Amino acid sequence: APRVGPLPPAPAMVRISKPKTFQAYLDDCHRRYSCAHCRAHLANHDDLISKSFQGSQGRAYLFNSVVNVGCGPAEERVLLTGLHAVADIHCENCKTTLGWKYEQAFESSQKYKEGKYIIELNHMIKDNGWD
Ligand SMILES: [Zn+2]
Repeated sequence: APRVGPLPPAPAMVRISKPKTFQAYLDDCHRRYSCAHCRAHLANHDDLISKSFQGSQGRAYLFNSVVNVGCGPAEERVLLTGLHAVADIHCENCKTTLGWKYEQAFESSQKYKEGKYIIELNHMIKDNGWD
């Protein structure tokens, strides 16, 4: 068996002083959704899968992919549609909890949600070219 030596010292935590520099920006020619609290881009309208979801505080949308979003630890929760492993997601820019990510669905009818993101409507604004 390989010899296990002492672990190297952990790198010091890096504090990011200018979070805006690290924001991802979505393509300017798309209708998109942004964080209602800090205007960080969150998702393209093209990545919207469904508008008929229910969040803890009202209506919520299901997205294929999002940006500027951080993920908490996954945990099992029983939702209206059965048991799922979900992780809370938050805006990486202003740290507001936005919704959750479906890590795993246990019923075959719900598998399409795996790896997808729920963002509650009251945390999003429509941005860029909607009219
Ligand atoms: Zn934000």
